Amino acid sequence: MPLQGREWYLEGVDSRVPLVGLTAQEIAERLAPREDARWRAKQIAKWVYGKAVADFDAMRDLPATLRAELAEAFTVDPLTVARHAKSSDGVEKLLVHRGDGQVYECVLLPYEDRVSCCLSSQVGCPMGCTFCATGLGGFDRNLSAAEIVGQYLLLQRLTTRRIGHVVFMGMGEPLLNLDNVLKAIGLLHDEVGLSLRHITVSTVGLVPQIRRLSQTGLPIHLALSLHAARDEVRERLMPVNKKWPVAEVVAAMRAHQKATGRKVTFEVLLIADVNDSTEDAAAMSRLVRGFPCIVNLIPFNYVDTEQGFSRPSANRIRAFRGVLESAGVTVTQRVERGHDIAAACGQLAGEHVGRFAKRGVPVGVR
Ligand code: SAH
Ligand code: SF4
Repeated sequence: MPLQGREWYLEGVDSRVPLVGLTAQEIAERLAPREDARWRAKQIAKWVYGKAVADFDAMRDLPATLRAELAEAFTVDPLTVARHAKSSDGVEKLLVHRGDGQVYECVLLPYEDRVSCCLSSQVGCPMGCTFCATGLGGFDRNLSAAEIVGQYLLLQRLTTRRIGHVVFMGMGEPLLNLDNVLKAIGLLHDEVGLSLRHITVSTVGLVPQIRRLSQTGLPIHLALSLHAARDEVRERLMPVNKKWPVAEVVAAMRAHQKATGRKVTFEVLLIADVNDSTEDAAAMSRLVRGFPCIVNLIPFNYVDTEQGFSRPSANRIRAFRGVLESAGVTVTQRVERGHDIAAACGQLAGEHVGRFAKRGVPVGVR
């Protein structure tokens, strides 16, 4: 039978509201004027966030009539999985979108003692770092809090173990989307039940936003992608350094550490013959020593960004590490995983959309 009036617009369009993204309080408001709205909303939030269930039939303590009503007005998830890749080392990666085909990725990272996950904060990224596949793919838009928490819940359904740690190290610059990232962190803490101390935000180094984050006083863990202690080297890697050079961004990190009492991390991506010399390491140790921080070394994960970048040898990384350690700096090295499924920043989505094809050009710092 042909559809009448405007209805053809809606053919195939799901107009139901996703519950993921709403607080228990917001769910209660949508259930009003039911008398038991608050109580039912708490139960629903527990299923959606605490137990990560995907459909209403699984919400066993709700009456069948309510479950049917809910299924008419709401969906659970805002996201669709476009691709699911599993690595031989247990790492799993999802490529997701909200129905519009603008894909982004999230990664499940099981360790012996805990399970962590890596979430995206934007579709693409406008910061234009010269070593990063996401950066070279350009930028589409910010993700909503629902789209951020939705990634966590999809990943939680892949494992029977509890994901207790979250890092914002997927696609995008979280501090360019601070309002939604803070809202997502609120949901992860209040509704999912994660400890704020187990949530890490990694930033390219936007000084005003770091200050804003410090002012919230939230005891989340902050990591700065420092990558080089010398401005001329950092500038080559990260256009943002022209706006907020090393001294300014490190001062903001020191202030953040003081304001929150939490150790900060400096991430250092090592690229052969670009930023991996012992002089680079010495400059780095002068910059960060004597203050509660950790330097995390990340060997360059190969992506062809047409810069001729490659990964330093193990010896070279060891020497870099040695210089920092002998200056008393605490150093860790990223254990790399998920190589066989391209789990490095931006790679899977890059393959999916066609290399650097679909998004606008990187614009660097505006
Ligand atoms: N935009 C934020 C968070 C996402 S990127 C930031 O830049 O900090 C997360 C981390 O992946 C950053 O430390 C980034 O420098 C690193 N990264 C990007 N491309 C990489 C590559 N090719 N190899 C290894 N690490 C990379
Ligand atoms: Fe963006 Fe981070 Fe990639 Fe730089 S490294 S382009 S800030 S995602």
